[in-house]
Order: sequence, then structure tokens, then C-alpha cells
Amino acid sequence: MPRNFDIPKFYRSPIISVIKTARMAADPRKKDLVPSLLDFGPVKVWIARNFGFCFGVENAVEIAYRAISEHPDRRLFMLSEMIHNPQVNNDLRRRGMQFLRSSTGDQLISFDTLTPEDIVVIPAFGTTLEIKEDLKDRGVDVRTYDTTCPFVKKVWRRSEQIGDKNYTVIIHGKRLHEESRASFSHASKHAPVIVIRDTDDAEDLGKVIRGEKDRAYFYERFAECYSDGFDPDRDLERIGVVNQTTMLVTETLAVTDILRNAVYERYQEDGHFVDTSDTLCYATHENQEAARVMLEQPLDLALVVGGYNSSNTSQIVSLCGTVVPTYFIRGADEIGLNRIHHYDYPVMEVRTAVDWIPTHRPVSIAITSGASCPDMIVDDVIRKVVAFFEDTASFADALAPYEAVSVPVG
Ligand code: SF4
Repeated sequence: MPRNFDIPKFYRSPIISVIKTARMAADPRKKDLVPSLLDFGPVKVWIARNFGFCFGVENAVEIAYRAISEHPDRRLFMLSEMIHNPQVNNDLRRRGMQFLRSSTGDQLISFDTLTPEDIVVIPAFGTTLEIKEDLKDRGVDVRTYDTTCPFVKKVWRRSEQIGDKNYTVIIHGKRLHEESRASFSHASKHAPVIVIRDTDDAEDLGKVIRGEKDRAYFYERFAECYSDGFDPDRDLERIGVVNQTTMLVTETLAVTDILRNAVYERYQEDGHFVDTSDTLCYATHENQEAARVMLEQPLDLALVVGGYNSSNTSQIVSLCGTVVPTYFIRGADEIGLNRIHHYDYPVMEVRTAVDWIPTHRPVSIAITSGASCPDMIVDDVIRKVVAFFEDTASFADALAPYEAVSVPVG
């Protein structure tokens, strides 16, 4: 039975809640990944089967708001952005939460200003052992409001286990992402560690493993991506792969295959590669698979809603972008009838597209969001998009198929 978190009501949504409740009642194991259709006549909105707040984000939101309500008289700090969603972080700021560090690791407020009376919330990505120790040394409580996702901790535990068995930990992730930095820190207490970004990195590391490239190549090619004292001749004999939980799951599996094959070709025997696929995050997998199935529909375009710096959202943008014109937006404010402001990923620039809605009717639009995006923001996007069309069906009519199968929970 999924746990129900106590998160602010304004993050829930009238439209998406009806659909999610109905789909969950009809298919609690989420076997059916066909998207939900809201048919407004001139515009058809396809909504991914799985998207939005995951277990780890709901857990973090619940804890952060609890910290605020439990300590109205204390100074409240987030170690960094709690999750990568601007609306959520801005709401926390409005309620008095201050941010100690940026999501790229810049110090915004010196730790020297902290006292043991201050409340510090650790974000869902977790943090490094070094930062935790620093805070503890200052008398700051780092346990009560630690929102580190259990699935991230699972990656850490598995890294420790394989490290203790003399395997090197290879993290498929973005070296500077907070979660990868945290996982790197935890794993490197138990094992040599290297972070690789993609299958190109995996291919090149495979060349080192097979002996086709030497140690000088390794140190140059993977500069600043390996732990202190890493010796490619010694530390690539026994390896295991874990990931930053928001990477493309299919890419993690491809990276894993490349490296598994490389060690097998080099050593021609088992025992040099450990399977860690049990650490892949369920939510990332579900959301990406749901996006893939959604893309099988006849679509004109896709809208993916989430923070520009959200890793899991950008993976979904990449997926959609290979199939249909895709716009990565933070919310309804970015869309107008004739123009749309969107984030061009992976170029990482905000752009404006004009005449983004096709002139034919009906127009078929796919909508999904990242794991850190409140459903209410998706609701607002749907309402705004539908308002651009004339002679549309009412929301009550479009939602009728889901109201009909909705079963009250509890
Ligand atoms: S995406 Fe997965 S690992 Fe990340 S917060 Fe959500 S449940 Fe946790």
C-alpha cells in the first residue's frame, strides 16, 4: 500500500488527482502504461501514466514543511534546494526558509553563521559526508530533518557493500550534481570511485579496462572524475556500476553492459563485475517508461513541466525530443497563444518559439512532468493550453471517463 504523505494541499490538483485516483483504482500495479486522454474536441491532451512527485520528493516536502510548522521561532535553513523545482523552493523561501548553498555547490550563506539552535534541512539528494561532519562539528542537528531519499541511501549502502568486497564503484551520473557528489563522497570511504557521464565515457573507460589505452590516457580523459589515489591498473579489475538515480535508466543499463563486456573481455572469467541493478530508482524507471508509451500516440508536440535544473525532467525532455517537438517549461506562465518560452536541453538556453500550436484540428498534445513538479502546476498548464482553443468540451466532460471509474480510497 503506497504511503500517503502530508504535503500542502496547494500542491495537489483537481484535474490530475481525478485521473491518478481513477488509474490507480483500475490498475494499482501500474501495469498499463497507456497515457490518459482528455479529449476536448479541437485539442486532445495525452497525460503520461506516471509522472509528478515521487516517494522521495513527497517525503522531503512533508519533512521540510513539518520543520517550518514545528519551529516558528527558530532560524530555518535548507542545505540547498530541497528538490529542483522553483515553485516549491520559492514557497519555502516565503515561509522563512533560507538556502545555505546553491544547487551547483556555491556557498550562499557561510556555515560560520550557524548555531546549534538553527534548524537545517538536508535535501532529498542527500549530501556529502564532509558537509555533514562540518555541520555536526558546529553543533547543528543533521538527523531530525534529513530528507535524503531512501532510494539514494540504497545506492550508498550498495556502494559500501561492494566497496567492502574490493570492487570499485562506477557512478553513472553528472559529476557536479548534488546527488552524484553525495554518492561519490559516501562510496569513496569504502572504494575507489569514478563518475562517468554517458556511454561515450563508458566506451573510453572500457578501452582502459581492456588495456587498449594506458594510465596516462585515463588520467587525462577522466580528470576530476575519480577519487584520490585512483590507480587504473589496480582499480579497474573488479567493478560495479550504480547511478545517479535520475539518469536515463536505459543509458545506465547500456553503460553497465559496455563495462561488463569490457572486464569480461579482459579477464575471461566471472568475478570481476558485480550486478547492482537492484539500486535503480523505481520512480525514474516508471516515469521514463510512461513517457515512452505516451510517445506511441499520434502527437503534434509534447510539453514537459519541471525545473530547468531538474535532472529527471531533462531526461524525459530528451526522450520526448527524439519523437516530437518538445517544450521544456517551468509552468503556465511560459506559454502564450503565439509564443512559448522554453528551455532548450541539452543546449541549456532559454528560447522563445512562435506559432508553436499547429493550425490543424484536432491538435494532439502530450503532457508530463518531472518527479519534483507539483501536479497543480501541470493542472495550470492544461487549463491554459485548452483555453487557446475554441469550442472545447468542458473539463467535466473531458474528465467524465475517469470520474466514472474513480473509486474512493480508504
Ligand atoms: S527520483 Fe527516485 S531517488 Fe530521486 S527522490 Fe524520487 S524516489 Fe528518490
